[in-house]
Amino acid sequence: MIVTRALTKRYGRIVAVDAVDLDVREGDRYGFLGPNGSGKTTLVRLLLGLVYATSGEIEVLGRPVPARAGAVLPEIGALVEGPAAYPHLSGRRNLDLLDAAGAGGRRRTRKRRIEEALEQVGLAGVDRRPVRAYSLGMRQRLGLAAALLRRPRLLILDEPTNGLDPRGIREIRDLLTSLNEAGTTVFLSSHLLSEVELLCTRVGIVDRGRLVLQDDLESLRAPTGHILVESPDAARIASLLDGQVVERDGPRLVIRHPDAAELNASLVGHGVRITGIAEQRRSLEQVVLDLTGHGADRMERTP
Ligand code: ATP
Repeated sequence: MIVTRALTKRYGRIVAVDAVDLDVREGDRYGFLGPNGSGKTTLVRLLLGLVYATSGEIEVLGRPVPARAGAVLPEIGALVEGPAAYPHLSGRRNLDLLDAAGAGGRRRTRKRRIEEALEQVGLAGVDRRPVRAYSLGMRQRLGLAAALLRRPRLLILDEPTNGLDPRGIREIRDLLTSLNEAGTTVFLSSHLLSEVELLCTRVGIVDRGRLVLQDDLESLRAPTGHILVESPDAARIASLLDGQVVERDGPRLVIRHPDAAELNASLVGHGVRITGIAEQRRSLEQVVLDLTGHGADRMERTP
């Protein structure tokens, strides 16, 4: 869906994007994660043909950008850097103008499309207010509605939850997940570890313009070889598994063991009651820390 090869963008002495090989596949919810100033917005602008690369190649939906941007852009939905809108017009009227300039079609079909987009982003109830009275979060939602108007196969979103409160973030997350389940590939940039961890299936980590890692979230968050157990019989477990218990906090234990199902069967066999059991996995924050030597200090964990 998106492929870049050795993509580089320099601004004088600053290398904003440095030899990036991006590989976004059909069906991905891809999180492009990096601290402020690491080149995320520049990369999104390159993908959309808004700025030109210093060197390297870009392919979006199988076609070269910027050479074929004119053919590619109508097939994607994009949101980049504070969505543009006429402040004196309502959100609905803004979408109407955008839609007339773009997808077109019959009046009734267009009306339905706009209605659906407003509803999807949770703006259906306030659509008569002028955009100048919108909060930052509402503007961001309107930008998303505009990106959804053409029911695109690919969404490219730069920090889509910027300015939203935790509830708004959750709503956008649910919306992007359901669009993705219905077949839309989602590429988004973010400096929020928690957002990418909760939403994405694949992650690219960027540090000072360089892509330092790109992988499926599932394989990144590899098992640690420890099992988390919760039991009212924690003391009994501690004496049964002496030497394997790494940590104990009230009813919760961390046990060195390769297989949760096996451990569960063995404990139940000893008549121990288990209220919770799960494999411990590395958090995305741990992965980022191991890679870049900085995590929570430069990339926020929670909004
Ligand atoms: P943020 O999360 O703060 O939006 P970012 O990861 O999107 O940051 P970019 O905005 O892409 O980062 O910036 C990457 C680097 O390129 C920064 O050092 C920035 O100052 C520089 N840069 C970006 N655009 C320009 C420009 N038009 N002219 C000069 N330097 C620029």
